[in-house]
Amino acid sequence: MSVWLECDNCGTEHTIPERADEPGSGTVCPSCGERPYTVRRRGLVWHPDP
Ligand SMILES: [Zn+2]
Repeated sequence: MSVWLECDNCGTEHTIPERADEPGSGTVCPSCGERPYTVRRRGLVWHPDP
């Protein structure tokens, strides 16, 4: 399952292969290089409808 990232800094959206977070070498925004981003996992429903 890929992870969908939306940068909180510049708004760039991109997907990355799911992987463990590595301190010091984690994923950064390919556009601005900042790390504050919102992680969205495709297929994951936070509030499923009944
Ligand atoms: Zn960015």
